[in-house]
Amino acid sequence: MPELPEVETSRLSLLPLFTGKRILSVTPLRHDLWRGSLRPAAGPFEGGPLLRHGKTLILSFLPEKGGGGSSCPFFLLSRFGMSGRWERLSLDAPRPPHTHLEIEMEDGGRLAWIDPRRFGRLEATPSPDRSLLLSGTGPDALAIDGKILFDRLRRHAVPLRTALMDQSLLSGIGNIYMAEILFDAGLSPFRSSHSLSRAESLRLEISLKTLLTAAIAAGGSTIHSYRKEDGTPGGYQKHHAVYGREGLPCPRCGLPVQRIAANGRSLYFCTFCQPIRTP
Ligand SMILES: [Zn+2]
Repeated sequence: MPELPEVETSRLSLLPLFTGKRILSVTPLRHDLWRGSLRPAAGPFEGGPLLRHGKTLILSFLPEKGGGGSSCPFFLLSRFGMSGRWERLSLDAPRPPHTHLEIEMEDGGRLAWIDPRRFGRLEATPSPDRSLLLSGTGPDALAIDGKILFDRLRRHAVPLRTALMDQSLLSGIGNIYMAEILFDAGLSPFRSSHSLSRAESLRLEISLKTLLTAAIAAGGSTIHSYRKEDGTPGGYQKHHAVYGREGLPCPRCGLPVQRIAANGRSLYFCTFCQPIRTP
């Protein structure tokens, strides 16, 4: 399931294909994946900045100067869900299965939104501030201020594993990076977020930003279906310390990594390196 590093990897790889390029048309192929009633206006457009908030990638479309197309800019939000991804196709390539939206570029390429499991969502909006998809989401995990993170964690009396994946508290982290961040910070996933000291919260913030940045540099993690826009897998899964490593030696203490099922997902951790009680 794509998390913040995979969505940021998509953003970085789409930038040279989209921003500043002429766009001929935007064609939705399926309508039940959209939030809100607004749909993309008729082109042509100029590709504007690509933004990201948490696991949502935001493509901006600018009116063409002196062109005959739409006169208003709009934003296309894509939330990746379980299996959503953007892929670049050549002009004559057949449309891949599960393509739900196509953007036709003047240079001959197409950008396709592909989502086999269809848990992802799309939205067209005149402003991201008025987005339905982003309403109620917390600050982006990579950009959050340390003091705000501490205040938000202290206000919630839930296990850290739940707090880190609560998109209204902090936006962008899922099951993989939650496990890796808590291991790196030496914090038990079962600790209450309310019980964190300021020093522990700072440790968590450093782990969070260091790991997300390293994962982006490696092109994200590929566990099941995630692929970069050119179809190749990410490389960060080779650096996972605990995720997917049940029974293998913990890279710090050598004891076997533990796995338990929690809320239908696997939770990975080391009981020795992530003690519930602080020494
Ligand atoms: Zn350990």
